[in-house]
Amino acid sequence: MSTHAPGATPKAAPYRQLHFDRGARPFLVLWELTRACDLACIHCRAESRSWRDPDELSTAEVTKVLDDLAALGAPRPIVVLTGGDPFKRPDLADIVSYGTKLSLRMAVSPSGTPLATRRNLAELRLAGATAVSFSIDGASAESHDSFRRVPGSFDLTVNACREAVDLGFHLQVNTTVTSETVDQLPGILRLVSSIPAGLWSLFFLIPTGRGRLLAPLSAEQIEDVLLFLAEISEIMPVKSTEAPQFRRILVQREAEYDMVPSTPLYSKLMKAVEDMLPSGTSGHGGDSGSAGIPNSISAGIPGRIRSDKGNLGDGRSSSNSVHGGHTRRPLVVGDGYGVVFISHTGEVLPSGFLPMVAGNVRDSSIVTIYRESELLNLLRLPSGYGGRCGICEYRDICGGSRAQAFAVYGDPLAEDPNCPFRPAQSA
Ligand code: SF4
Repeated sequence: MSTHAPGATPKAAPYRQLHFDRGARPFLVLWELTRACDLACIHCRAESRSWRDPDELSTAEVTKVLDDLAALGAPRPIVVLTGGDPFKRPDLADIVSYGTKLSLRMAVSPSGTPLATRRNLAELRLAGATAVSFSIDGASAESHDSFRRVPGSFDLTVNACREAVDLGFHLQVNTTVTSETVDQLPGILRLVSSIPAGLWSLFFLIPTGRGRLLAPLSAEQIEDVLLFLAEISEIMPVKSTEAPQFRRILVQREAEYDMVPSTPLYSKLMKAVEDMLPSGTSGHGGDSGSAGIPNSISAGIPGRIRSDKGNLGDGRSSSNSVHGGHTRRPLVVGDGYGVVFISHTGEVLPSGFLPMVAGNVRDSSIVTIYRESELLNLLRLPSGYGGRCGICEYRDICGGSRAQAFAVYGDPLAEDPNCPFRPAQSA
């Protein structure tokens, strides 16, 4: 499919491919160091509790896995230490320091609790961590705390985010998208851009763990949110988690730029962003617009967003974004291919949201499991997927969420139930 006019300079694809065999080494290792956490969020995948499991991997077992990952050589994976709350492990800074000395890129994903202090964050920074992520699920204390069912969590989280930026961390903010939080997205965008975070990640709820108690969006509503995210991708770096059809949408959007959806949820989200923009401004000068979006961000808002309602059209040329119109092109990686998860007891899974065990680092090297697991190898073969994903023209850059398929059909190779796309072959 051509995405540029004849004679024009070809644009870069709106996604990135890894430059190495994703079956030979992971790009990203998500590591649940502990399930202990002082929060008890309603959507928690890990169904966390306040105490540490005595069967958690020991410090020596953790460093052995880091040794194995480092032995892969460059490009070494990014290791994200998550939980639970990784701050519940007293050896967290030692683990970060050990990985950093092995030239692994170490990141940490703490919970927004009283443990997320400047002092504790600074210790991680000194140990070599370069990135942190926190979750913000509401634009205000009222909405965030009500979603998390934890009073005071919003203030703790936003303060920790600001401290992290001040300490020189690259900050990622994660937002869970459900029917309860979707209306908050424009307000969270404003908050995230004002902190400022370096990356905003929308996580599309998987009905697993306590998340079974929440109401997910329909496939059509998720499509609208991803179209909204595609617009936002032109002004700030964004990513989707467990919604790889975002890459299909970016490709379709490049090819059909004049097509502007008029579906109710998309229109509502876009209007809310428009309403936050300083009216009639050029976006230059001053620290922030009247509605709170920093001018450094609003200056980059393309005409498609900035223009008057009903006149959405040709803003691509006014974008300050890079790489074919996107500030950060998403990588073609997914559960088991490029990404792998290690549980607090050493189980290796394709993802924290796909509860199928490929092996255990107590029995075998993480590298051997990653390369040789039958499960992981099956997940790397889009031609073996069922339903629409198996015949889809976008399967090699999307492939659907294997975790969403498993949660709904009990089959990780089934079609992604959250994607409404009809492949050409199914017509
Ligand atoms: S049908 Fe499957 S592979 Fe195709 S875009 Fe949707 S989720 Fe992706």
